Amino acid sequence: MAGGLPRLLRPGTTRAGLIPCSGPVFDMARDRAILVGDAAGVVSPVTAGGIHSAWEHGWAVGRAVAAHLRDGGPAPGQVAIDSAPRFRFKRALRWAYDRMQFDWPFDLLLHSPPLRWAASFESNRNGHWQVYAQPASGGEAVAVTPGPGSNARESVDGRQLPYTKPGLRGLWRLPRQDWSQAILTEEQSLLDGLAPEDSSNWAPARDGVYFVRRPQGEAPRLAHADAEGANVTDIAPLPGGFEGWGFDLSPDEGQLVFSEMTLRESDLRLAVPRTAAQ
Ligand SMILES: Cc1cc2nc3c(=O)[nH]c(=O)nc-3n(C[C@H](O)[C@H](O)[C@H](O)COP(=O)(O)OP(=O)(O)OC[C@H]3O[C@@H](n4cnc5c(N)ncnc54)[C@H](O)[C@@H]3O)c2cc1C
Repeated sequence: MAGGLPRLLRPGTTRAGLIPCSGPVFDMARDRAILVGDAAGVVSPVTAGGIHSAWEHGWAVGRAVAAHLRDGGPAPGQVAIDSAPRFRFKRALRWAYDRMQFDWPFDLLLHSPPLRWAASFESNRNGHWQVYAQPASGGEAVAVTPGPGSNARESVDGRQLPYTKPGLRGLWRLPRQDWSQAILTEEQSLLDGLAPEDSSNWAPARDGVYFVRRPQGEAPRLAHADAEGANVTDIAPLPGGFEGWGFDLSPDEGQLVFSEMTLRESDLRLAVPRTAAQ
């Protein structure tokens, strides 16, 4: 044992129960006992999250008990009831979720021309990497890139399918179309400055694309290119040896999330041969 629990300790008993998300319980305070948190049903009926509300409710009740004992403050049981969130709107939402789950609006959407080919993915099923599309409702996948393709991500307006090419510099695009028909449009180069190691370090935005730019002999930068890839603006410097595995924009496009390698580590491990009896 190197500290903490003994390594071979087995759980004695396992207990589990349902998350109480039907709203605050009716009998929250009685006979000098007050329920708080999960026991009081103070859990969001929509998300079943209760940490924050248990914390707030517990504090409110704790303060009320202290105030009552010290200064004759209001009855803590009543404070517990009054301070428990009612979740009226969320309970109504839960009620609706439980009773009114319709598939038809989504089915309709799935069969509309733009979404019929909802899925695009990369595959090397033919020996080289290409971008494929598959009908959302199932069926044969078809190769949509005329040559190599990988890391496809639709543009925000859904009209373009930008992608990279494995091991090559640049970002290409095809206009989104009914992929079941012969693909008549030629691929276009969208950005020529995207390095092969940044093949996933770009994110489509409403007004273009964010990406990593690596000018010759200089530190890389976070940059933005307009929808035609013509005007490129540097936004922020990145560390010299920047290495990352993906970009994404928050839905309001106010934040860019990206991963970054900050530390490489390796472990020295000890293998102990087992005896026949083990
Ligand atoms: C799998 C799971 C995931 C969740 N994820 C989230 C999440 O992401 N975000 C979020 O906000 N909420 C989440 N919740 C809900 C959240 O954990 C609870 O709402 C919150 O912990 C409630 O806090 P509590 O203090 O009321 O109860 P608890 O955290 O359950 O504390 C009650 C304590 O009382 C102890 N106890 C029980 N009986 C006795 C007894 N007779 N004597 C002494 N001690 C006793 C228990 O061992 C426990 O330690 C999750 C719940 C589950 C089960």
